[in-house]
Amino acid sequence: MNHKVIGIRDLTASTYVLQLERNGVAFKAGQCISLGVKDHGLNREYSTYSGEHETDFEFLIKEVAGGTVSCALRCVRPGDEVTFSGPFGSFVLDAPQDLSRRYLFIGTGTGIAPFRSYVRSHPDIDWQILHGVRTLEERYDHQDYDPERYTACVSSETGGDYHGRVTTYLRENPVDPDTICYLCGNSAMLTEVFDILREQGVSGNGLFTEAFF
Ligand SMILES: Cc1cc2nc3c(=O)[nH]c(=O)nc-3n(C[C@H](O)[C@H](O)[C@H](O)COP(=O)(O)OP(=O)(O)OC[C@H]3O[C@@H](n4cnc5c(N)ncnc54)[C@H](O)[C@@H]3O)c2cc1C
Repeated sequence: MNHKVIGIRDLTASTYVLQLERNGVAFKAGQCISLGVKDHGLNREYSTYSGEHETDFEFLIKEVAGGTVSCALRCVRPGDEVTFSGPFGSFVLDAPQDLSRRYLFIGTGTGIAPFRSYVRSHPDIDWQILHGVRTLEERYDHQDYDPERYTACVSSETGGDYHGRVTTYLRENPVDPDTICYLCGNSAMLTEVFDILREQGVSGNGLFTEAFF
């Protein structure tokens, strides 16, 4: 199936938001879609960045150096079509209707994408986002979040909410073991954070992970 491009919103030199027509496709926040440039024959998975109730689809994409699809998708223009299949995956919120639950969403870089989709889809849940980035400009769309609920851990620049990596932040600020934790980003970060949270008493049943690479 093809979906028409509505626009591209540049966030940094390497990261952009791709906006596509929804065409009535239903999805659960946090699922991913396989996208590609029409006639290129190559697709990659991208997590939903927009909410379940929004008119269009949005995806937060980082151009990987030398990457095939992430770079090609940046060149599409409004009115072009991209290949689209999905939704896929089960990195979705467990029991969002239970408003007594506390959620902690930990993402690095574009790993914040599914979490934006969660909080836009389920505005009444009790959530905190811990976003690990290298630079201040990588706090993608940070103005969209309640500052009381969004903590940017910025490792290479000062001026964020915390100067350092998410792992150091978590060691200094242990998590309540009853918190339901969702982790998204590169696999090395996931492993390290998973171990820290388990040591802090978070149950394996309350830990969900999605690896981008
Ligand atoms: C379930 C799932 C959801 C994903 N959601 C997103 C998303 O929302 N946004 C997003 O930008 N990417 C996301 N990705 C990664 C995406 O699918 C591609 O791997 C990425 O865009 C690179 O594709 P490419 O064709 O440009 O690079 P390729 O030509 O496939 O290869 C480039 C190399 O870069 C590595 N790589 C992949 N991603 C990154 C990265 N972010 N940083 C550094 N190196 C990387 C790969 O391991 C590979 O070795 C997701 C991946 C999965 C599995």
